[in-house]
Amino acid sequence: MTDTPTYGFDTLQIHAGARPDPATGARQTPIYQSTSYVFRDADHAAALFNLQEVGYIYSRLTNPTVAVLQERIATLEGGVGAVCCSSGHAAQIMALFPLMAPGCNVVASTRLYGGTITQFSQTIKRFGWSATFVDFDDTEALAAAIDDNTRAVFCESISNPGGYVTDLPAVAAIADNAGVPLIVDNTSATPYLCNPIAHGATLVVHSTTKYLTGNGTVTGGCVVDSGKFDWSANDKFPSLSQPEPAYHGLKFHETFGPLAFTFHGIAIGLRDLGMTMNPQAAHYTLMGIETLSLRMARHVENAGKVAAWLENHPAVESVTYAGLPSSPYADRVAALYPRGAGGLFTFALKAGYEACVKFVDSVELFSHVANLGDTRSLVIHSASTTHRQLTPEQQAAAGAAPNMVRVSIGIEDADDLIRDLDQAIARATA
Ligand SMILES: *Cc1c(COP(=O)(O)O)cnc(C)c1O
Repeated sequence: MTDTPTYGFDTLQIHAGARPDPATGARQTPIYQSTSYVFRDADHAAALFNLQEVGYIYSRLTNPTVAVLQERIATLEGGVGAVCCSSGHAAQIMALFPLMAPGCNVVASTRLYGGTITQFSQTIKRFGWSATFVDFDDTEALAAAIDDNTRAVFCESISNPGGYVTDLPAVAAIADNAGVPLIVDNTSATPYLCNPIAHGATLVVHSTTKYLTGNGTVTGGCVVDSGKFDWSANDKFPSLSQPEPAYHGLKFHETFGPLAFTFHGIAIGLRDLGMTMNPQAAHYTLMGIETLSLRMARHVENAGKVAAWLENHPAVESVTYAGLPSSPYADRVAALYPRGAGGLFTFALKAGYEACVKFVDSVELFSHVANLGDTRSLVIHSASTTHRQLTPEQQAAAGAAPNMVRVSIGIEDADDLIRDLDQAIARATA
């Protein structure tokens, strides 16, 4: 069931990458809970280590259960290959690692998951990398922020927490013009609502922790490669275009062509950084992905109902949901995200910070957690939690102002969700 572009999304989310287990006929993908794999003989072992033959060596690098998930996500995203890893944040490091070197920078959107803003503005400095943040709606500022040391442009398709939607074709054109890859975090949209590669992205990263798994059980991440970037067009990406000393002088781009980035991610990224996804996590995520389209359609439907109700509530100052007809992004959603604007947005209470804190303490059906993309509806006050370490300016730019609450709308009955929000707002503003 591979390379079958004639199948639709609903079919591929169940079948892509999977086949009955050759040893037992097991129809569901087994959890290959094994660290290592017996070599046929010494020649076989040597061929595997030389990357002359594809096969299993050791589960830090590759594992049959994880491989099914990699192929499935790559297929759904329209990529040529994917590397799964231990979390979404690991995926971001794995995406940047082959591209960056000390002194290099990534130009990133101001509208990102709070943890990504911290990872990019603080932690990557320890590798000698840096990030420049700009408003991606200001395309002139974006083009101007890219300099000779820029090795990637990074944004989220539908951004956490505000639900802002990025004009991916416009951003991709700017990255392309500058000769640098565009990396899109597609966590909140999922491949059901958006295929960044179709809009010009080079790489797609996911926190599979969220909608792809969908049930709040395991953390995981994934980097998908479009296979479309010419790593040898200039001398900016020597780890891919030049002999790589970390793999006995192998030239990844010359040797593997469009699969260069994926092979690099396994042979060097996972081998040396070790941010590996375990087969149990891959199993839970495979179970989740089978129903991705059904869940996403319901997330979108419920989010639309809840956002419309909130917009008309007298205690509510504003609602950011891009799926609302009143959203400034309504045209962009219609053009680029025809299946909807996702299930994630923020709303502001007129009564301010204290009322927001009281509100999250008053919900009963919603869960107050630091997660999103669960079947369950979730709520968090970003300014006092996930975006707490940011400056007030960063909070405002990211859509996490002190009087804003973020909701991740689940797939329960919309009427029950609205009733819970109604009583919690009443208690918070009493
Ligand atoms: C959660 C999240 C991440 C980080 O993923 P983890 O799996 O928690 O490491 C990155 N980007 C977005 C948009 C997220 O929602």
